[in-house]
Amino acid sequence: MSRPRPAVIVHYHEIGLKRGNRPLFLRHLAKNLGRATSDLGAVRVRQLSGRILLDLDDHPAPGRVRDRVQRVCGVASTALAYRVPSTLEAMKAVVGRLVEGRAFASFRISARRAFKTYPLTSVELNRALGAFVLEKVAARVDLREPELEIHVEVMPSETFVYVDRLPGPGGLPVGASGTVAALLSGGIDSPVAAWRMMKRGCRVVFVHFHSVPYLPATSQAKARALVERLTAWQYESRLLLVPFGEIQREVVLTVPPPARVVVYRRLMVRIAEALARERGALALATGESLGQVASQTLESIARIDEVATLPILRPLIGMDKLEITTEAQRLETFEVSIEPDADCCTLFVPAHPATRMSEAEVRAAEARLDVARLVTQGTAAVVTETFEFPARTHAAVAE
Ligand code: ATP
Ligand code: MG
Repeated sequence: MSRPRPAVIVHYHEIGLKRGNRPLFLRHLAKNLGRATSDLGAVRVRQLSGRILLDLDDHPAPGRVRDRVQRVCGVASTALAYRVPSTLEAMKAVVGRLVEGRAFASFRISARRAFKTYPLTSVELNRALGAFVLEKVAARVDLREPELEIHVEVMPSETFVYVDRLPGPGGLPVGASGTVAALLSGGIDSPVAAWRMMKRGCRVVFVHFHSVPYLPATSQAKARALVERLTAWQYESRLLLVPFGEIQREVVLTVPPPARVVVYRRLMVRIAEALARERGALALATGESLGQVASQTLESIARIDEVATLPILRPLIGMDKLEITTEAQRLETFEVSIEPDADCCTLFVPAHPATRMSEAEVRAAEARLDVARLVTQGTAAVVTETFEFPARTHAAVAE
């Protein structure tokens, strides 16, 4: 038999449910698949009916391509497949190779035809290939919980055969839903929130507030390390670093201690929003989860939203800390987030922040601040850094 031709096969789910917009979503997905694997060797991305194929003829590392594909938003599942002509003989040859040297007590063949004019039905294919496997190995057929599932997808021009189908992140391809600005602290929650937005198809611009020179630059280093890791999911990122220490110092001069945290948050939102608009973002995103701390009660959230003119998305609002932590570990942001640091939230923060302030109380607390000037001061001092994946480089430019 000729050498089997490797390919990575990609299945999507949610995109398949779209009607009119499906071609647009698929274009984003195909482009992102190409981008995610661009440094690994020549990959040809092709759209087939109901799936995408990454053609890996002569590719040096098909397994690495599959691993990258597993981290592309919009991918429901992926597998390293072999392409053969759609004859029973060719299918048997590759199935034989796949089961060779593998230990399994039970298996099933799952054949699917993408076009119904193929002379054999799926059931007939399952029987013929199943009988072939039974002749070769001492295993039984188990349709419910097989140890090995052998997938056979018959397309009009060729057939794909594969065994290990791995789950992808699901969701929608980055870029398909527009841009959001995510407020990124050095903590555990906000990187997870940013990723959740990517998974819904958003390109994320990161905004980090720091308190240099009042505090060391650790929080910026953490923000960079987090953005670097998250860029693996969206290929290009911008991190906007906003000096906030001076602004906080002014707040401390006139705002009573219990109101300070909410006032800081309202200023962050106003500044982030101005930066977001300039960059075409249509919403902000934060890592808030209801009731987690004083600034995340329903009252505090209402006070924060009152100054916003863009929607503030809070993808973690209904998650508890354990769930968020598990996701942070999976995303490999956790280990960065737990590095010790003093971020701006620890600077000039009162011992007992208010959890239930009325709108009138917050307005009164802000009355002696020149809010417009503080916002301009923040936006004018922003420094932008850019990140790329696979080429992990970044460069700073003052804006
Ligand atoms: P996190 O784990 O994301 O830091 P947290 O539980 O510590 O969240 P807060 O400190 O109340 O909660 O922050 C709530 C949200 O406000 C964060 O998830 C983040 O989106 C935003 N935020 C807080 N501090 C900063 C900062 N220094 N720069 C940018 N955004 C911030
Ligand atoms: Mg925090």
